[in-house]
Amino acid sequence: MKITYSIVAPIYNEIENLPELYRRVRDVMDSSGQPWELVLVDDGSTDGSTEKIRELAQADKHVRPIIFARNFGHQVAITAGWDYARGDAVVIIDADLQDPPEVILELAKKWQEGYEVVYAVRSEREGETWFKKTTAALFYRIIYRITDVKIPVDTGDFRLMDRKVVNVLKQMRERHRFPRGMSAWVGFRQIGVPYKRAARTAGVTKYPFRKMLKLAINAITGFSYFPLQVATFFGFVSAGLSILAIPVVAILRLAGSHFFEGQTTTLISVLFLGGVQLISLGILGEYVGRLYDEAKGRPLYIVRDAPEDD
Ligand code: UDP
Ligand code: MG
Repeated sequence: MKITYSIVAPIYNEIENLPELYRRVRDVMDSSGQPWELVLVDDGSTDGSTEKIRELAQADKHVRPIIFARNFGHQVAITAGWDYARGDAVVIIDADLQDPPEVILELAKKWQEGYEVVYAVRSEREGETWFKKTTAALFYRIIYRITDVKIPVDTGDFRLMDRKVVNVLKQMRERHRFPRGMSAWVGFRQIGVPYKRAARTAGVTKYPFRKMLKLAINAITGFSYFPLQVATFFGFVSAGLSILAIPVVAILRLAGSHFFEGQTTTLISVLFLGGVQLISLGILGEYVGRLYDEAKGRPLYIVRDAPEDD
């Protein structure tokens, strides 16, 4: 059967949210009157979500379970969703119901008007900490400023994409992924729809600060050379300053000043330059490490089981 809407939800230990997610998606999608499927990508859950997903799939053929062999991360789970989705439009949605399934119909309306990427913009966020909101707001703005791609601010992965767009994204197999950046990068006709991001219905966030930081670094390195350019910039600044310092020091010395004698100045400048060099090396390392990962060419994810295509 031809499917119009594929709803993709990455699942990592969301057992409490699964029944409610399924129920709300089903109600909304049934009301659309179009054929749909719910692709549940189990990203190595350990809380019984896997069995719950299988149960849902048994009871309703709309549900397609994709079970990973281990936890590969949110971004990779989304990628598997793109790979397995069969619909003419693919919607990515969080499993914790922070993205209300009812908004899908609004996204679909824009799609029917001819837009190929319809992203949901968070006009309000409920139930999140001050820290999360501030770092997120800062993050989106920094990314907007320093990367080459104009990634819309305050948008997450909640979006609808046309089949054409998904087919392009499926060819982009980079290892360190930032899906919302990738979907901005491809172009096509894009538009935002504002929505109110709800609080998590149950469970805790699977995005501790460490993972947020990793995502931010992936976004920056994946879409810009900015950190490398910063290193170059500091190189020029310190080289420039030292050249300027040569005549100053020479004149002071000839004039009999003892200002630059002693080890303290030497020590400080050696430590300073050493620090700058190590940081630059680290930045370079981030890019080289990513190159190495690409060169290995391992599969992005490993599926333990997935339904046969019917
Ligand atoms: N998620 C995932 N793999 C992970 C971490 C998260 O598939 O390693 C899923 C999670 O189950 C949820 C979505 O990604 O459906 C967003 O995660 P979460 O709600 O914890 O992030 P937050 O909304 O707090 O940023
Ligand atoms: Mg969430």
